[in-house]
Amino acid sequence: MRQARGGRSRVTGNIQPHTFRSRDLVGGHIVIDLVNTVTARDAEPIDWLDGYPRVLEWAALTGHFTPDDLTDLRRLAETEPGRAKLALDRTRELREALHDLITALIHEGAPDPAGAVEQFEDHWKHAVASARLTVRGTGPQLQVSVGTSGAEYLNHELALQAFDLLRALPLERTRVCPGLRCGWVFIDSSRGGRRRWCDMATCGNSAKGRTHYQRKRAGGMAQARP
Ligand SMILES: [Zn+2]
Repeated sequence: MRQARGGRSRVTGNIQPHTFRSRDLVGGHIVIDLVNTVTARDAEPIDWLDGYPRVLEWAALTGHFTPDDLTDLRRLAETEPGRAKLALDRTRELREALHDLITALIHEGAPDPAGAVEQFEDHWKHAVASARLTVRGTGPQLQVSVGTSGAEYLNHELALQAFDLLRALPLERTRVCPGLRCGWVFIDSSRGGRRRWCDMATCGNSAKGRTHYQRKRAGGMAQARP
């Protein structure tokens, strides 16, 4: 993959098409679901965002954006493919900065891994520059739109959402899935707070299967020993 602006992008080369399904949205927050559009971060990362239309497909699945806005973005991308390509690069750059920030917060508490803070700051400032300030009963809010942000609308909205998330990230409940070839981040909102896997149906089950197999194998070998 082309080096993103700022000269830093840890996800390299391996971009694969992927049809997003609801089981890909297990992060507990749209920003974390964006981070999880790369899989196998613990091994050889695979980037599932293989084009701007794929980002729109993912965005539709999140339910966070209106169909009208997504249709407008699809048309924009058709008439201005260069801008759509730049927006995709920016989505990947924002995603990687957020991944580095969130995982560093989980593991260390107060990070600036490889300039991730500056990179996120850049994205946030661009978002704020395109935003309108509204004041409602709930207080002041920054709002972006396709009209003011163009092809960057998703990036701007995600950057604003990320700012809110990082201010209130429940660190004791934010985890990285230990599943093989996973590395997804999730917020554990279960009652007991003991969720270990991104998804019990995928990583949880395959880990259980492996443990069972290893036990069986270990048992077999023990029997074979003299
Ligand atoms: Zn997992």
